[in-house]
Amino acid sequence: MRYISTRGQAPVLSFGEAMLTGLARDGGLYVPETVPVMTADEIAALAGLSYEEVAFRVMRPFTGDTFTEAELKGAIARAYAGFGHAARAPLKQLAPNHFLLELFHGPTLAFKDFAMQVIGQLFQIELAKQGRRITIVGATSGDTGSAAIEAFRGLDNVDVFILFPHGRVSEVQRRQMTTPIEGNVHALAVEGDFDDCQGKLKDMFNDFAFRDEVGLAGVNSINFARVLAQIVYFFTSAVALGAPHRKVSFTVPTGNFGDIFAGFLAKEMGLPVERLVIATNQNDILDRCLKAGDYTKHGVTPSISPSMDIEVSSNFERALFWAYGKDGAAISALMDELKTKGSFTVSANAMAHLRDTYDSGSVGEARTLEVIGETLRETGELVCPHSAVGVGVAAGAIDRDPGTPMVTLATAHPAKFPDAVEEATGIRPALPPRMADLFERPERVTRVANDLAALEALIRKERRA
Ligand SMILES: *Cc1c(COP(=O)(O)O)cnc(C)c1O
Repeated sequence: MRYISTRGQAPVLSFGEAMLTGLARDGGLYVPETVPVMTADEIAALAGLSYEEVAFRVMRPFTGDTFTEAELKGAIARAYAGFGHAARAPLKQLAPNHFLLELFHGPTLAFKDFAMQVIGQLFQIELAKQGRRITIVGATSGDTGSAAIEAFRGLDNVDVFILFPHGRVSEVQRRQMTTPIEGNVHALAVEGDFDDCQGKLKDMFNDFAFRDEVGLAGVNSINFARVLAQIVYFFTSAVALGAPHRKVSFTVPTGNFGDIFAGFLAKEMGLPVERLVIATNQNDILDRCLKAGDYTKHGVTPSISPSMDIEVSSNFERALFWAYGKDGAAISALMDELKTKGSFTVSANAMAHLRDTYDSGSVGEARTLEVIGETLRETGELVCPHSAVGVGVAAGAIDRDPGTPMVTLATAHPAKFPDAVEEATGIRPALPPRMADLFERPERVTRVANDLAALEALIRKERRA
C-alpha cells in the first residue's frame, strides 16, 4: 500500500513513513493511492465480532508490511484496554430510526481517543524498531491535545508539545493537558485562536531545517493513521444496524473533517453508506460551502462546542482531492488561493461529486442548548454540545430520508462541557470516577506568543536531547 500527497509533489511513502511524517513536504496530506475494498460477505462476517477484531480487519489492508499481524493486533488490544465500556463504541437508540454512537468512553472522554490511543502504540513499535526519537507537536481546539498527551505520556522516544488557544478551551480540556506529570509532556497556551495554532504548526512543518533538527512529527488529524483508526466505528455501528444488507446514514459533528472523512473511506471500502451529513455550529464554513460551492473565511466566533470552532478544515482537502479526480495540481491551486485570498470556489463538477455523498446543516448556540434539553426530556440521555449539534442537524436529514437509519456520532462526554450542559438542563454532569480528582491536580503550562520563532525556540530548549 502506497501513500500519495493531495498536492501531488511529495515523495510516495509506505504506511509507516506516512504515519511518522504527518504533513507532506509539499504542504499536502497523505492518502492511500487506492482504497482497499471489502466484499459484502466480508462485511457481513464482522457481525458479532469484538471491536478490536473489527479494527484489525478494517485497518490491516491499509498498513501494508509496516507491521506484522501480531504487532497490529497487540497495538489494537493495548489501545482499547483502558476504555470504560466493553463495547468501546456502544449504540444507543434515540428515536425509531435515530441512533447515537457513543465515542466518549476513552481516557479523555472524546472520540479522539479512538485514534490517538492506537497511534501511540503504533509509533512506539515503529520508533523502537528504527531506534529513532521524535518531537510530536500538535495543535488543538481542546480534545486532540489531551488525547495526544494521554497516548504519548511517558513514552521513551517521544516529546509531546501541544499548542492550544489560551482561554478558549474548557476547564476540563485544559486540565487534561496541564496536569500530567511526565517530563515529556509540554502544554503551550498560545495567544490566539485555534486557526492560529494550526497555522503555526503548519509553518513549523514547512520550516524543513527545524523539522529535521527536532525530528518533528504530527498527530493532528492530518495524520492518515488517525483517520484510519476512525473508519472502524462506522463499520461496527453500520453492521449492528444491518449492513451490508441495509444502508445507513451518519451525521458527524465536524470541525477539521477528519472524522467524517473516515466515514467517506468506509463508504469507499464498500460499506453501504447512504448519506454523510456534516454538522457544523455557528462556524458554518463547511455548510456554506456545501450549499453554495464557495469556501470563504469570515473569522471564527467562539462557541459552546469549541472543538468545532474552525475555519481552515484541514481534512476537507482530502475530500476535495477525491472530488477533483485526484488532481494534485488543482488542489494545490485551491489551497494557495485560500492562503492568499481567504477563499476559493469549488468547481461545478467537484460540487456534484461532494453532494453525491455529503449533506450538511448548521445549528446555532441557542438551538444547541435547546437540543440538549429536548434530548434529555425525550430520551433520558445527556449529550455534550458537539453531539447536540449533530442531533440537531440529523433531525433535518431524517425528515428528508425517514427510511434509512441515522447514526449520530456523540463525540464527547457531557462532563467535558459541564457549563453548557448545566445551562441547558440544570444538571451538572459528573466526571466518571476514574478522573474525579482532575480539579485537585496541579497544573503545568507555558504561555507563549503567536509567533513562529518564539515557539521554535521554546521547543528546542524544552525537548529532552
Ligand atoms: C475534534 C472534535 C470534533 C470535530 O472532529 P473533526 O474530525 O475535527 O471534524 C467534534 N467534536 C468533538 C468533541 C471533538 O473533539
